[in-house]
Amino acid sequence: MEEKLNPQISVDGEMREHDVQIITSGGLRISAHSHILASVSPVLESLIERPQNHRSSQRNISVPGVPCGAVAVFLKYLYSSKCSEEHLEKYGIHLLALSHVYSVPQLKERCTRGLAGRLTIENVLDVLQLARLCDAPDLYLKCMKMSSCNFKAVELTEGWKFLQNHDPWLELEILQFIDEAETRKKRTRRNREEQKMYLQLSEAMDRLEHICAEGCTSVGPFDMDPSKNKGPCNKFSTCHGLQILIKHFAACKKRVNGGCLRCKRMWQLFQLHSSICDRPDECRVPLCRQFKLKVQQNRRGDDARWRLLVRKVVSAKTISSLSLPKRKREEGPRIAQMKMSLE
Ligand SMILES: [Zn+2]
Ligand SMILES: [Zn+2]
Ligand SMILES: [Zn+2]
Repeated sequence: MEEKLNPQISVDGEMREHDVQIITSGGLRISAHSHILASVSPVLESLIERPQNHRSSQRNISVPGVPCGAVAVFLKYLYSSKCSEEHLEKYGIHLLALSHVYSVPQLKERCTRGLAGRLTIENVLDVLQLARLCDAPDLYLKCMKMSSCNFKAVELTEGWKFLQNHDPWLELEILQFIDEAETRKKRTRRNREEQKMYLQLSEAMDRLEHICAEGCTSVGPFDMDPSKNKGPCNKFSTCHGLQILIKHFAACKKRVNGGCLRCKRMWQLFQLHSSICDRPDECRVPLCRQFKLKVQQNRRGDDARWRLLVRKVVSAKTISSLSLPKRKREEGPRIAQMKMSLE
């Protein structure tokens, strides 16, 4: 079998002779032009330029290991920089290997995208192995993610059985990726929960100032009658819980030293407020100035974990005021469910 490639552009206006033969594993010989191959692929260029044993104007380059059709499509790409979707569908895997081995980056890019778009449970492990061999990190990651998300189905394929018998390292790599993905998911979930708690605390700080300065439904500053207010404010779910806690704190006989947990929580909220408050002189929140004074007198009492909590609550407040849509900002957290991380 023999085939000839015709250059679409002739150099210097004249057609050059075919001077190289590509020989495929199926025995197909394709006549081509060395100057065209060399201009697109540096690897083919060095193969063409290496010294020859026998004197002949024809050079032979054999391309084993891939179907003849794939080699023909690859050579056509070198001549035209074009590859149809149909060919990509049929020879994507081989073209990726050829473009990697002969260093044709544009075709490699095209194959990588083409294969990524055609991944199935059945072919994902084959493509994964190839992506690893051909150093195609985007495709490799995409295959890893797909295998990891669909592992139950992938585990049943022929590809997985083959892998277990022939490539235990890759098997291990996949299992590690799945494990790390799980850890990542857990970490994200934990971060989200923490962030929610800091937001709730920041919301509580906001409401505490409002109750102590303006008064809500049943608690307010000493020189004001909160029952004269127009009724519940727009974040009443938070205010409600806080007002109950404040009233308890004012009346409780056990207080902090007596080991009352509710009082301890209130005490911590007052302390947190004081750490955040930047106007202690006009502030009407109970104990604000006393806590500030105490911190000034005894800097060692101000420990690192507490400073971290304060910083996180302040940043949660900033983030929420910058990024949440208005409707969400109005929903209050539930103080009763709130846990202080320093307990
Ligand atoms: Zn209120
Ligand atoms: Zn109490
Ligand atoms: Zn204050």
